Amino acid sequence: MSTSKERRSVLIAGNWKMYKSLGEALELTVEISSGLPPSAEPLVAIFPPAIALAAVAERLQGSPKIIAVGAQNIHFEKEGAFTGEISAEMVSAAGGPMVLLGHSERRHIFGETDEAVGKKVARALAAGLTPVLCVGEKLDERETNRTNQVVSRQLEAGIAGVSDVAQLGRVVIAYEPVWAIGTGKTASPSQGQEVHKHLRSELRAAFVARHGSADRAERTLIIYGGSAKPDNAAELLQEPDIDGLLVGGASLKSDSFLKICRAAT
Ligand code: PEP
Repeated sequence: MSTSKERRSVLIAGNWKMYKSLGEALELTVEISSGLPPSAEPLVAIFPPAIALAAVAERLQGSPKIIAVGAQNIHFEKEGAFTGEISAEMVSAAGGPMVLLGHSERRHIFGETDEAVGKKVARALAAGLTPVLCVGEKLDERETNRTNQVVSRQLEAGIAGVSDVAQLGRVVIAYEPVWAIGTGKTASPSQGQEVHKHLRSELRAAFVARHGSADRAERTLIIYGGSAKPDNAAELLQEPDIDGLLVGGASLKSDSFLKICRAAT
């Protein structure tokens, strides 16, 4: 089956990680919202630190360009004695319709397992959030030809708790090779495309396994992350299965983030 990119939007998402105080986050929010044309495309999302999420969402109310706000993580339980954690419901109530899950920094610095990520995806969907499920291989895994195996495992575990076709249809996938995150090394467009194509074919099987149509996978957004910048954005986005970009470092300045958004129009 051929992919039909025309049927999908382009999503440019900025992951601010543990950068930006509340004041700085608001300043960057205003710069981004005032710098974007009010056109429907690309879809834009920003993921500020949790402490700034509500204020950023509030500041965006009435912005001519719709910009979705999201959290960078949640706990998989609905509520409870989990000091330091935030829930999907709290994110939603704060005005954030999205959440990043299974980012490689969560997996490899904080030891998040595939299973925990899967529970978070299910929790996010139950709370009405749009989860961005991040998958990606480490350098040694690529060098030993295990990229597809690793991302398949992460994808399968990430959606294991999602039995409903409509819910699966709300999941966004981010392919982020760990060796490319924050390193200045970007996957080449063809390296990215190869993995995105593989992920889409895995998604086809996942929809079918849930008694849905394989065709639904053509509507899933699969975005790329890993040193995306203004000067490589356009060529990455030209690939048929690369539906957007998850941007870390280059999302911390309005100038570079806006350039990437413009490259997506
Ligand atoms: C990220 O943190 O998701 C990311 C892709 O970072 P960078 O763009 O800095 O590589």
